[in-house]
Amino acid sequence: MSQHFETQAVRTQMERSQHKEHSAPIYMTSSYKFDDAEEMRALFTGEQEGNIYSRYANPNVDEFITKMAILEGTDDGWATATGMAAIFTTFAAFLKQGDHILSSRSVFGSTHQLLHNILPKWGITYSYADLDKTEEWEKLIQPNTKMIFVETPSNPGIDIIDLEWLGNFSKKHGAMLVVDNCFATPYLQQPIKYGTDLSIHSATKYIDGQGRALGGIILGRNELIREIEGFARHSGPALSPFNSWILSKSLETLAVRMDRHCESALKVATALEANPEVELVKYPFLPSHPQYEIAKKQMKAGGGIITFVPKGGLERAARFLDALKMFSISANLGDTRSIATHPATSTHSKLTEEQRNEVGIEQGTIRLSIGLEHVDDILADIEQALKASVLEPEETSK
Ligand SMILES: *Cc1c(COP(=O)(O)O)cnc(C)c1O
Repeated sequence: MSQHFETQAVRTQMERSQHKEHSAPIYMTSSYKFDDAEEMRALFTGEQEGNIYSRYANPNVDEFITKMAILEGTDDGWATATGMAAIFTTFAAFLKQGDHILSSRSVFGSTHQLLHNILPKWGITYSYADLDKTEEWEKLIQPNTKMIFVETPSNPGIDIIDLEWLGNFSKKHGAMLVVDNCFATPYLQQPIKYGTDLSIHSATKYIDGQGRALGGIILGRNELIREIEGFARHSGPALSPFNSWILSKSLETLAVRMDRHCESALKVATALEANPEVELVKYPFLPSHPQYEIAKKQMKAGGGIITFVPKGGLERAARFLDALKMFSISANLGDTRSIATHPATSTHSKLTEEQRNEVGIEQGTIRLSIGLEHVDDILADIEQALKASVLEPEETSK
């Protein structure tokens, strides 16, 4: 019988060395020795398996990949230095001049930059589709659409798409389906179960979960990962052994951390929705979320990210951030420390106001990443900041 997620996350480890260490050592080596000329030759031709150079493979990187692939329910992966390197590597490995990407409109700010400013240099075009308007997707597919790329839940709009529907849609149109699974982690959602070809993570977020290390990973079936390898071995987005060691260790606590992130976030989202100073709250497991039923179907819990809009627009949002006493104002998410961000002036400031509105970012939208502090302290900080930031009537009319 296959073991549970938690057990696999703790017990999947590389082979022990002659020291019989209990916790995995770090292999800080850039290259590896060959026993003789024949072994070197065989490794380079691929006749024999083994380590050559850490741009290709390293024991710590391999351990991280093996663990993530098991947890995601697939057979292979490729680890990268950052989440963006994972996304760019995926685009570069599979797309060529003349190809088209159909992407969810709501994507991470730097993903938008890749689609809009970088890929067009190589003749690769894109269109955006809205996660909540699947009836329009059929019209947006083009004969040259090679890849469908989505974030679900999306950042920061917290929109959701039905992965089962999307898996069938992609298959029908012969397009490769790539999901940025960063917000959910493999603990809450496994897109590959629904026909997704590649699942991507910024491991910088919940996988590390403690705000220490950058990392990324691409997960999927072996034949696709070999194509990724063909690009990555020579272009060099490799994850370092040290960060792999950190991330692999972090996976041991992913389930317990996610349980607490989700439990606290649901309490905070519920409290925000009941607060008269709040105009709108988006959280996947709130029954008011437009795709609540889909979220319930494909996610184990709602995740740790909430977006909300306090009454009073941009001015109120700025005052709310300044009034927070415990929350950190930071662009990161998925940390042990609770974080508040204002997407319109930070992560999504490169978009026009119209583009932001289209992805559900209002001038006053605030994104909260609910940390692992006691939930009563988190709630108290939000409540006092909402109180302290109320605008006077004459300020509201400005
Ligand atoms: C942070 C993030 C990324 C980029 O990851 P980095 O590790 O910062 O490069 C990509 N997608 C989503 C959804 C993210 O939140």
